[in-house]
Amino acid sequence: MIIFKKAKQLSEFVNQQKKEGKKVGFVPTMGALHQGHLSLIDTCKKNNDITICSIFVNPAQFNNADDLKNYPVTTANDIEKLHDHKCNALFLPSVDEMYPNDHTKKIYPLGDIENRLEGYFRPGHFQGVCQAVDRLLQIVQPHNFYLGQKDLQQCMVVKKLMEVTGRLATIQLNIVQTVRENDGLAMSSRNLRLSEEQRKLANSIFNELNYIKQHLHDQSLQDLKKDGIDHLVQKGFKVDYIEIANADDLSPATSSSGKLVALAAASTGNIRLIDNIILN
Ligand code: AMP
Repeated sequence: MIIFKKAKQLSEFVNQQKKEGKKVGFVPTMGALHQGHLSLIDTCKKNNDITICSIFVNPAQFNNADDLKNYPVTTANDIEKLHDHKCNALFLPSVDEMYPNDHTKKIYPLGDIENRLEGYFRPGHFQGVCQAVDRLLQIVQPHNFYLGQKDLQQCMVVKKLMEVTGRLATIQLNIVQTVRENDGLAMSSRNLRLSEEQRKLANSIFNELNYIKQHLHDQSLQDLKKDGIDHLVQKGFKVDYIEIANADDLSPATSSSGKLVALAAASTGNIRLIDNIILN
């Protein structure tokens, strides 16, 4: 695996691969890699000749300074895992490399999706995600691009970003399903920070989403959401939201028909977890 720290060198590498007729796939991450990330790498490997991963803890997307400061960094381990999964190249840029002096911060017209749910509770978060993703796509310009359904709203925001920047015409966005622990907890780098006690309770978020899926047609949407929130609060979570939303734009669902998704965000201690499941 070749490790690149400079954008220019990575772009040159990709151009060379493309000239040789190779198909290039790209998986961006913030590191502290787990099986969820590695399933993106494996999917990318299966469908491309060259798999490129990036690890960049993007300060622009953290609206909470402590969350950024406490974000787990396990780079040596990550490199080993990527090596084992036969990733071809890793991009490990510094903040200055990602956002050099001549980089102009853009405001992307993302529409309503930016302000719902995660966008409401983490103001500025998705503009920050887009700063990094747009820059990474500009550097890598892959044929295929892989994101996880675990961050469903992020997938939708990035799709919108790719539409408004015209990148969707040349880059295919692929969404890979969420990888879970045996008890249902969605794998996440933040799980590393859970205490033993918090870890035992952490799958409650998935259980509540699953309950909603099973009872979608026998209780009102309002009751399902309220009960889910109450149960999590009883277990000591601070709940930002449990929402039942239309899958195409994440607007709140008004009836149990159509393609729906249940989404949740809740904190245990100062660790904020998110999850979602498709309902039908
Ligand atoms: P992150 O390092 O958290 O920014 O995640 C990098 C990519 O991995 C994003 O596209 C995430 O949606 C995806 N990802 C994170 N956790 C999981 C998971 N449990 N299953 C599948 N994909 C995931």
